[in-house]
Amino acid sequence: MASRNGQFDFDFIVIGSGFGGSVSAHRLTEKGYRVGVMEMGRRWKPSDLPRTSWSIHRWFWRPKLGLRGFFNMRLFRHVTIFHGCAVGGGSITYAGTLLPPPEKVWDSGSWAGLTQWKAEMPRHYETASRMLGATENKILGPADHLLQKTADACGCGHAFYRTQVAILQPANGEPGGQMVPDPYFGGEGPARTTCTACGGCIMGCRYGAKNSLDMNYLYLAEKHGARVLPETKVVNVRPLGDGDGSAGYEVHTVKSTAWIRQKPQRFTCRAVIFSASSLGTMELLFRLRERGSLPAISGQLGKTVRTNSESIIGARVPNCPNDLSQGIAIGSRVYIDEHTHIEAVRYPGGSDTMSFLTTLLTEGRPGSQRIALWLKNLLGSWLRHPLKTLRLFRPWGWAREAVILLCMQALDGQIEMCWRRPWFWPFKKFLVSRGEKVPTFIPQANEFAKKFAQVAGGTAMSTLPEILFDVPGTAHCIGGCVIADSAARGVVDDRHRVFGYKNLYICDGSVIAANLGVNPSLTITALAERAMSFIPPAARVCWNESAAEQSAA
Ligand SMILES: Cc1cc2nc3c(=O)[nH]c(=O)nc-3n(C[C@H](O)[C@H](O)[C@H](O)COP(=O)(O)OP(=O)(O)OC[C@H]3O[C@@H](n4cnc5c(N)ncnc54)[C@H](O)[C@@H]3O)c2cc1C
Ligand code: SF4
Repeated sequence: MASRNGQFDFDFIVIGSGFGGSVSAHRLTEKGYRVGVMEMGRRWKPSDLPRTSWSIHRWFWRPKLGLRGFFNMRLFRHVTIFHGCAVGGGSITYAGTLLPPPEKVWDSGSWAGLTQWKAEMPRHYETASRMLGATENKILGPADHLLQKTADACGCGHAFYRTQVAILQPANGEPGGQMVPDPYFGGEGPARTTCTACGGCIMGCRYGAKNSLDMNYLYLAEKHGARVLPETKVVNVRPLGDGDGSAGYEVHTVKSTAWIRQKPQRFTCRAVIFSASSLGTMELLFRLRERGSLPAISGQLGKTVRTNSESIIGARVPNCPNDLSQGIAIGSRVYIDEHTHIEAVRYPGGSDTMSFLTTLLTEGRPGSQRIALWLKNLLGSWLRHPLKTLRLFRPWGWAREAVILLCMQALDGQIEMCWRRPWFWPFKKFLVSRGEKVPTFIPQANEFAKKFAQVAGGTAMSTLPEILFDVPGTAHCIGGCVIADSAARGVVDDRHRVFGYKNLYICDGSVIAANLGVNPSLTITALAERAMSFIPPAARVCWNESAAEQSAA
């Protein structure tokens, strides 16, 4: 084998340490493989996490600007995508909501009919839920009570639920903030602290109550020998030898947080797992296909990207008697109709920077008509109630007075990502979006937001990019390298093996082939559990099984 000293540095290299990457690292280490995890983001201890979103340099990830946080925001023509970047991937910033999708998702998209999904997936969801510590939320804060009251007022009170969350909650009647020995893995895991209901999950849990991946899958993987390399960005992956991956791969990295000396490194391995998230894996694969490192990647790359059909609206209640930031980040949800699901989301007290993105909810068709109406409403509000309007838009106090209503729909809608030179910067190719506009206006969700504001005694709000640019925001970008029966329809087979290569896998949100309509992390975890279940223990491995062989079998 063409590798340094005839030895591979690792059996498997996993790119990215989010949900797909951490499950892969843990299960492969358990099976006796030597695993290296390359993670572009930083490693965080609970005590290092920022207290509020004003600590921009410890919240946002833009290393070239000196921002080395764990949260990233990418603007595209069709959508604004929010995602995580850290050891533990999106789990450091996620709200901890773990919901299985409705069963019908297995009947749509390119994965339909490839296997007995409905029979196979429940056991993997069960394992994923146990490993991530999913439990019904016991802590309802003022925002959740308002959601329930609004649901009652709208006649859908019966469809109000407490969320399933990955948060260690105090026993009934006990206060939060209590240190306990590992409650999840029979003493194998780290000691933990019970939730204090500070509402800070999205800013990273400073108490160690949220079950982020560095507390479960990744913790166990490292304990059993996986080597996690933080601040290590993968820039190239090339097959060794004849080019189909049967002789292994070389993986090139640079230091992601370095300004000048990027410390390039080269590692060799038998197999590679891409787990860089939907956006990260697409971006890397486009680049590698373009530069000839992985030229056989399917032409379906980037074709079916989904945004969970989300809309972010909400309400602000100036001088609210209750602190709406109290509770957990997403404590409850309601189905307002068969396809539409709304969650009450909050930021911790003091995290007021999101206020710069919010504005008055405005009805009407997207485009110039809605912008004109929005300007008219805004002007009217300033003229009629200047003090009230000032209170509504002042940044300070926003997190304590505002509730975000995250609306998701299980209806299908897709965009395409491609690798292009944008008109405004023709010197370099970037990931750009293409296709039909994703709707930013979900009328029934807007009606619900107005009712919520009325019940709470506040004002309904929307986000500026939705009004000004007709661009929705999503924290749930999925797809782009979807599971399918062949390279003509997708990028990986149903065991996540990349078409056209051997020993190459994708395990992250990019493989999801349908709109889930719920937060995707549990599904990503369950799918990765399933994919790893097909890889034999190291002692019995037969390298070089390819996706095409499997689908022909
Ligand atoms: C604010 C917020 C709240 C959320 N709340 C929830 C929630 O409550 N429930 C839920 O289900 N989902 C939630 N999500 C979404 C969830 O975080 C993602 O769906 C999930 O993390 C995706 O998992 P993944 O395995 O695909 O990749 P990720 O978890 O995104 O991990 C990918 C990792 O790969 C790394 N990476 C990327 N490129 C490279 C490279 N070239 N080299 C090395 N490393 C690389 C990234 O730094 C990242 O750490 C939330 C997201 C956000 C932003
Ligand atoms: S509410 Fe606070 S203590 Fe509880 S999990 Fe979220 S951040 Fe941690």
